[in-house]
Amino acid sequence: MPLLVRNLILAPNQGDELLRGMFARRFSLDEREIVDFRLVRKSIDARRKPRIKFVCTVECSLLNEAAFLARHGHDPDVAVHAPPEQPAFPSLESSQRIVIVGMGPAGLFAALRLAEYGLVATIIERGRPVEERSRDVQAFWSQGALDPESNVQFGEGGAGTFSDGKLTTRVNDPNIRYVLDKLIGFGAPPEIGCLAKPHIGTDRLRLVVASIRRWLLSAGFDIRFRNRLTDLTLSGGSVGAAVINGADELPCDALILAPGNSARDTYEMLLRRGALLQPKPFAVGVRVEHPQQLVNRIQYGAGHHPALPPADYALAWNDPRTGRSAYSFCMCPGGVVVAGSSETEGVVTNGMSAYLRNSPYANSALVVTVGPEDFGDPSPLAGIGFQRSLERRAFEAGGGEYRAPAQNLLAFLGMKGAGPVSSSYCPGVREAELDRVLPTPVTDALREGVRHFDRKMRGFLTAEATLTAPETRTSAPVRIVRGENLQSVGLPGLYPAGEGAGYAGGIMSAALDGIRVADAIARSISADTRRA
Ligand code: FAD
Repeated sequence: MPLLVRNLILAPNQGDELLRGMFARRFSLDEREIVDFRLVRKSIDARRKPRIKFVCTVECSLLNEAAFLARHGHDPDVAVHAPPEQPAFPSLESSQRIVIVGMGPAGLFAALRLAEYGLVATIIERGRPVEERSRDVQAFWSQGALDPESNVQFGEGGAGTFSDGKLTTRVNDPNIRYVLDKLIGFGAPPEIGCLAKPHIGTDRLRLVVASIRRWLLSAGFDIRFRNRLTDLTLSGGSVGAAVINGADELPCDALILAPGNSARDTYEMLLRRGALLQPKPFAVGVRVEHPQQLVNRIQYGAGHHPALPPADYALAWNDPRTGRSAYSFCMCPGGVVVAGSSETEGVVTNGMSAYLRNSPYANSALVVTVGPEDFGDPSPLAGIGFQRSLERRAFEAGGGEYRAPAQNLLAFLGMKGAGPVSSSYCPGVREAELDRVLPTPVTDALREGVRHFDRKMRGFLTAEATLTAPETRTSAPVRIVRGENLQSVGLPGLYPAGEGAGYAGGIMSAALDGIRVADAIARSISADTRRA
């Protein structure tokens, strides 16, 4: 049984390769007694600024573990480690026709999981392959030419393709290791397997997505781009076929629907077809951008070691009077603010970083929770109307051509000393009062929240910070309600998955949800086979 040893400390300029010797010295071992040795967790301890350190956990096997445990078993940093059980994938044979809609993390991981059982599917994706999609997105950012079907939200890889590729999640799921191992296998940086806050970066993520596609094709999956699910045909009360681009029918026995949180037309179609949809709280607000050096100084202290990675932050404040929370979200160290529109005449902000996180800016969403009581209409799709109205107001306030309205943080707070607006957002910003874009309960909570954030991170409130708006696509405004069998309530045969279904938020949790749904289909096929 391998051992887990915690609290091995590295200085910022020390490489992981030093850990083996460090471990041997700490426990007075000869390095030749170490059979296997692997770093499994690495996090930053920034409590004593500027003396920042990395805290590491390693897994190892020794020639004589019994003797080691007799000497050090009482050490609180030493534990015997039972490796998690590997999932078993019985090989299934089935004539079931499975269709997957959407090639974001939920759809891609549903496909990879089905393949473990020997199953294949037809995958339809409204957008374009990631290489062509990248060109479309670049054209939008540089010239303001939006393709409503190939953009930051739509296309191969899904919404997180032009992102920081953060893989942190609050969910605790045994399949997290499975997702990380798959991503590494498809070319993600190996250190995501051990970092406390793993990230891939948009540049590396695009390559990973393309290699997943190549693998799926080689495994027999049929992948169809520029194929949009526009309707469903029902047969005996269940989903019998997917209607593609308003014309062709693709017969299916199980349909995994993983369309992300921006497929507004798909939600409308589901409502028409009788799926049970519920409005869901989400969050809206702004993107704040600071110089990365400033964030590093605040988080690591003046005079910190230059080898430290660009610092991040996570801030939250709950207003006891209103019950609303203001919080930072999707923080991108060394990143840029991106235009994430998918509808014409709507401005949407978001953030992205390359693997090296080497831009001079740090950005993060600063958002406030909103719920059905804010949407002004009881319909299940009211949250979409609410998002859209903010995006259109921002388009107008930005003066058209997808420029984002922007305001200096001090000006937003009505304080003296505000500097000019300065943002990495392309295709550019226009100075405007953000009260013209966001509802008062949101701006009120943001103003109060930022003052609290400055108490936790002295210097956060600065004339060097610019806000751009609006951040509206934080999570799904609708839930496609599922039953215990993970099928839609109202549309049997339909398996809603991922963020668009309202059961996930973020790349990792969407991937995990895709896996959950694929496992449910495999279980149902297996039960049918046993019955037959
Ligand atoms: P999506 O990734 O949205 O994928 C849905 C796919 O379905 C899309 O490819 C879309 O084109 C397709 N589709 C939609 N409707 C149809 C239809 N009718 N027919 C056919 N195809 C359809 N999360 C993180 O965890 N870390 C981050 O660093 C991060 N950064 C982000 C940065 C940006 C700019 C954005 C926009 C999002 C970011 N997110 C991040 C959120 C993350 O991308 C999503 O949580 C995640 O992608 C959701 O996965 P999904 O598979 O459920 O949906």
